[in-house]
Amino acid sequence: MNKLALAAVAALCACGCAKNDGNALKMITEATFPPYEFLRGQEIVGIDVEICRAVAEKLGKDFKCETVDFDSVIPAVISGRADLAAAGITVTEDRKQNVDFSDPYVTTGIVVVYSKANPYTGPEQLKNKRIGVQGGTTSETYVLEQLGQEPERSRSPAEAVAALKAGRVDFVIADIDPAKNCIMGEADLALSGFVTSEDYAVAIRKGRPELLKAVNETIAEAKADGRLAKWIADYTAESDALKAK
Ligand code: GLN
Repeated sequence: MNKLALAAVAALCACGCAKNDGNALKMITEATFPPYEFLRGQEIVGIDVEICRAVAEKLGKDFKCETVDFDSVIPAVISGRADLAAAGITVTEDRKQNVDFSDPYVTTGIVVVYSKANPYTGPEQLKNKRIGVQGGTTSETYVLEQLGQEPERSRSPAEAVAALKAGRVDFVIADIDPAKNCIMGEADLALSGFVTSEDYAVAIRKGRPELLKAVNETIAEAKADGRLAKWIADYTAESDALKAK
């Protein structure tokens, strides 16, 4: 297990082992995805955490946050282990079969991370290459469905980029914001333009209309009063500074 994964396990205990949490609103995330969620020491912080904390405040509940691997995030709200899943989760038709999504809070997409020694020129160049992705993500779906090939799966965008640096993959596909964070200070790496357009939203178990309404109201309010823009600016700056250390 790499250092980041170990830290994530520690954070699970730091944030998830409280007693008497029956009345708390529980968020599940995957804390390797700056600036949406990342670790500040043992604490899980980021844009998604602020959104979910604001929902808890609106509902007058305590707030708890746990981190798991990305492919366990949506199952955690389906099983009832958590109330809200927020992890830079892209709204997709497949996921809509299993969970309800809030209104989107950001429009973004995936990009190709490449080595300047092997510049990316277009999607045709990806055919039959070793492509690193974080498992369970829309980047994985892109490689499977659009390119019709198997990706090399990692547990985080940073792990995928480490594989690129080590020459174990030829390209990485990841969401633009964590990808930007990963290549900070890496003079040999660069990013393509957007390969897809995707919306992030909060996922909730089906059949919880009141909770869904509270999340949608929170997102609308945070957009209107400038909090969302401030969270984006502040957590981008903080996670960039952490990467630069
Ligand atoms: N937006 C991507 C997805 O939903 C990746 C999210 C993540 O890795 N946290 O699949």
